[in-house]
Amino acid sequence: MRRALAALVLALASSLLPPTGVVAQQGAVVLRPDRVFDGDAMHEGWAVLVQDGKIAAAGPSVRVPSGAKEIRLTGMTLLPGIIEGHGHEFLHPYDETPWNDQVLFESLGERVARATVHVRKELMAGITTERDLGTEGAGFADVGLRDAINKGIIPGPRLLVAGRAIVALGSYGVKGAPEWDLPKGGMEASGLDGVEEATRVHIGHGVDWVKVYADYRWGPHGQARPTFTEEEIARIVEVSASSGRYVSAHASTDEGMRRATLAGVRTIEHGDGGTAETFKLMADHHVGFCPTLAATDATAQYAGWKKGTDPEPRSVQNKRKMFQLALQSGVAMCMGGDVGVFSHGDNVREAVLMAEYGMDPVAVLHAATAGNADIFDLPDRGRVEAGLLADLMAVKGDPSTDMKLLYDVTFVMKGGEVVRQP
Ligand SMILES: [Zn+2]
Repeated sequence: MRRALAALVLALASSLLPPTGVVAQQGAVVLRPDRVFDGDAMHEGWAVLVQDGKIAAAGPSVRVPSGAKEIRLTGMTLLPGIIEGHGHEFLHPYDETPWNDQVLFESLGERVARATVHVRKELMAGITTERDLGTEGAGFADVGLRDAINKGIIPGPRLLVAGRAIVALGSYGVKGAPEWDLPKGGMEASGLDGVEEATRVHIGHGVDWVKVYADYRWGPHGQARPTFTEEEIARIVEVSASSGRYVSAHASTDEGMRRATLAGVRTIEHGDGGTAETFKLMADHHVGFCPTLAATDATAQYAGWKKGTDPEPRSVQNKRKMFQLALQSGVAMCMGGDVGVFSHGDNVREAVLMAEYGMDPVAVLHAATAGNADIFDLPDRGRVEAGLLADLMAVKGDPSTDMKLLYDVTFVMKGGEVVRQP
């Protein structure tokens, strides 16, 4: 009776599923790819046994229980599901609709509807966890989006969300004529009491991470300049830490990065103006770094750069140089491209650029999986290792020889459920 009921539930569920098909797995499953990237190194001839949503065993000689279903992934590499380090589910590419217009003219309903499409595309692309760093005007809708995914209402990656994000009073858009008080893409705060309250409001609304904008383009000529004082950022970190949460800082100026590092944030995003000295300071303070190479690559093209034909614009040249400084410093590198600025599902554009700009391909694959798990303090995922969540993906060929193969996703499993198969 119970089994019949389960079959009925399964049949009902599958009638509601997206066309790619989510197939619930019963019992043990053994995966046999050509090779496995375990989060740290590549291994030929490994098999991976999955049971009860978790990885039960992985290695060259896995003992397979009788009755286990076998999935052959011939010619493919199995990897941990990708952990996107920096995304915005409530944004879509700026060449479709400029950021200002998304914040001002798209209703919350439309933005939520779009986000449900984005998360599905990402899961199908092998992104099984994503850190979302701010809804950019869509309130705390990310909290509900995360919960809807966790309840199985819609397919998507496991989300770590940051809510509205905290911006310094007067620094952030949308900006119009000074007469008008326009809606902002983040929650404005000012002073130690102000930032403390904003942090507590975020915690109270159920965020996983607290995001702060340590600088922004509010200089006299629109150039990036620090916003919050080091003391204000430190207060945000203190309140967040006492609640068991980490802080991520947007910072593209050297001084903003320095203040955020000394204030105790866990990760810094962008880093365009970072000096060798500041990257070293970040490494010494164990601050992770998301270089968001893909965001710069995308916005340069939106501004008219014809990649492959035109010479690289200064912003892209600068990003390459900055990335070299970061690599030489030994700072822990996060794979986070600021997806949302470009299309959801194309998340690995960042990994491709990291390799293209000179990072060792195996180190890039590590950053996108185990590295991000370490930086985000997620010991239950990011590696192919017994006891961890069965969040896995496979691609054609060997991505350590050509990072673009990360786009060729053939298989995705989340929590032991096959989401996509060859
Ligand atoms: Zn961002």
